[in-house]
Amino acid sequence: MIKAKKSLGQNFLVDKNIINKISNIIDIQNKTILEIGPGTGNLTSSLLQRNPKKFYVIEKDNSLSLILKKEFQEQIIIINDDILDINESTLSKEPLIVFGNLPYNISTEILCKWILNIKQDPWFEYLILMFQKEVADRIISKFNTKNYGRLSILANWRLDIEKICDVKANSFLPIPKVDSSVLFFRPKKRFLNLNDPKNLEKITRVFFMHRRKMIKKPYNQLFNGNNDIISKLKVNLNLRPQNLNFETYFNLTKEYEKLRS
Ligand code: SAH
Repeated sequence: MIKAKKSLGQNFLVDKNIINKISNIIDIQNKTILEIGPGTGNLTSSLLQRNPKKFYVIEKDNSLSLILKKEFQEQIIIINDDILDINESTLSKEPLIVFGNLPYNISTEILCKWILNIKQDPWFEYLILMFQKEVADRIISKFNTKNYGRLSILANWRLDIEKICDVKANSFLPIPKVDSSVLFFRPKKRFLNLNDPKNLEKITRVFFMHRRKMIKKPYNQLFNGNNDIISKLKVNLNLRPQNLNFETYFNLTKEYEKLRS
């Protein structure tokens, strides 16, 4: 029996129904796969049965990497490293299909890293990722709802997002304190081009600093009280940050970039 390391967010998915469901979301035959944090390889072995062409895994835990090596031999390419230190875009020429029951302490950091570094042509075709349910709810939330914020705006800039299912805590070992959800992401074909996605991050950070306050103050702080942009984008400064839809935030960022260029 392998002792799970809490520091690495190790909760191994053991529910066969869920493992099957995740493996069957899309046809991966002849595709190149990247799995983040394969752990003991439960999802890995299920995915391998679907005949992918090539299979990369990134696993930080040294002892788990050795176990995976023994178990799967030449079937997978193991990168024994920290996902946050990897440049995924150099792994493969073909876009990857990414699976991951992510370590929850760094799941939003991983997603934000990918979105902020995304190029015109993304290095991935799909992302199929497990998050803590509360985090998944934030990612898929729409404007005028309480979970709406930086994470959903950032994710929705370049990605279409769909919830596949919720996953009960007892589907994992050891059993975590929270439920989870599986989300499916695919790059949008049409999106507003930004010079630097970090500007979108900045705009949303400043706007959502005070969720309950009117956006007048953050707007003026970022745009020096520029009235033309407000009327062009038809922004009402008496609204709260959660009342502006995705497009308004993307457009505000575009205007912000124009002002500084
Ligand atoms: N996917 C497995 C395990 C999920 S637990 C399963 O479903 O059974 C999260 C996994 O991510 C663990 O294997 C853990 O060792 C690994 N991990 C944690 N932090 C990581 C990091 N920074 N980079 C890569 N892997 C990490």
